[in-house]
Amino acid sequence: MQVYIKTYGCSLNHADSSIIDTILKEDGIRVCNSESEADVVLVNTCVVKSSAERRIIDYISKRASEGKRIVATGCMAGSYPERISKYAPEASVITTPNIMRISDAVRESASGNTIMLSEYRKIDRVSYFNKDSFGRVVEQIPISDGCMSSCGFCATKLSRGTLNSFAESSILNAVRFAVKRGAKEIQITSQDVGAYGLDRGTNISELMWSISEIEGDFKVRIGMLNPEHLWRYIENFAAALSSDRFYKFVHLPIQSGSEKVLRAMGRGYTPEQVTDHIAYLRKKATGVSFMTDLIVGYPTETDKDFADTLDFVRATEPDTVNLSKFTARPGTRASRMTQIPDKEIKRRSTIATKEVHDAQRLVNQRHIGKRYKCLITEQNDRSSNGRTDSYKQVVLADSSIIPGERRDVEITAVTSNVLYGKVL
Ligand code: SF4
Repeated sequence: MQVYIKTYGCSLNHADSSIIDTILKEDGIRVCNSESEADVVLVNTCVVKSSAERRIIDYISKRASEGKRIVATGCMAGSYPERISKYAPEASVITTPNIMRISDAVRESASGNTIMLSEYRKIDRVSYFNKDSFGRVVEQIPISDGCMSSCGFCATKLSRGTLNSFAESSILNAVRFAVKRGAKEIQITSQDVGAYGLDRGTNISELMWSISEIEGDFKVRIGMLNPEHLWRYIENFAAALSSDRFYKFVHLPIQSGSEKVLRAMGRGYTPEQVTDHIAYLRKKATGVSFMTDLIVGYPTETDKDFADTLDFVRATEPDTVNLSKFTARPGTRASRMTQIPDKEIKRRSTIATKEVHDAQRLVNQRHIGKRYKCLITEQNDRSSNGRTDSYKQVVLADSSIIPGERRDVEITAVTSNVLYGKVL
């Protein structure tokens, strides 16, 4: 029997697909490289945006119309299982806390049965990785599931629920397995890396020190941190981030520059606090780069609130901004609030996009002429792309450099999203 795994969404979903791959292979089930070879298509779904959901429903409907057996997991399995069953009535639906039973689901599905597994379980999912897992230059390792927040716009919460931090020993084992199998970049990921360990009397900065002690030639990227918890451990976090083991990179999704809108979203911090955190980390972790996420058009956002968001971008000069137009996700608190007209959301998004691009280009221009060590993580027929120690993406015209190698480079040109360099 052969299974094809189709993964949508964030680095956590990609980490879960690696765990599923490990479990299936351990149970003697072959994972193949295309839908055409597969007896069962396993879809790891995402609900963060309605556009993603539409793409997934299209994909599942097409596979169902081709007569393929389907097993769906990931966030849609937890948040909107009825939508999967509507477009693929014979699909089996397995929520993420049940992925240790994924082989049963695949076998049942291949024999023509449909099973639904949605019981909530606190499992240490990362402990399913073994010495045969991994094998790529860049690997994702999940450290927890769920979170401690309840943001008004978030459909993921409906699926992943409350915080379940995985055991430090299992996470460290997974890092060792990945490094032994050749990983040069480890992406530590979860819904909210910032909440890690708060349900176990520890926190992300403690885990970072433990990871920094693992032998090997690899770099670690710390995933998205809801700024709400940073005050608890920021000094230790800054100190750990300064060790060579970590990319000097912090992803702090602020979502809005308006205190009023943050309160409406249920985000437990103020723009001033995040601005102070960024200033502190810039002082303590030299060369640190910042990524943030912004939503424009959240219900209650006025012109003044929107202006506050643009002020935040100008004041903090993030390296990268993931900008989203607000879309109401079914079942979320925000979907029950008075919506801002689409036309107005589009108008604000156009303004914010230009502002963000100009700000990012300005930040990137400061790197021209600078020299960096660069880890190559991607290769295509036009270029080899890598990351500096601050996780800045560098595009090199020489497409012969293979992922995992390092090069000294000089930055020669920039856009608002990437740096261009030449090998020294
Ligand atoms: S922190 Fe907020 S946005 Fe992130 S997963 Fe939790 S509820 Fe969703």
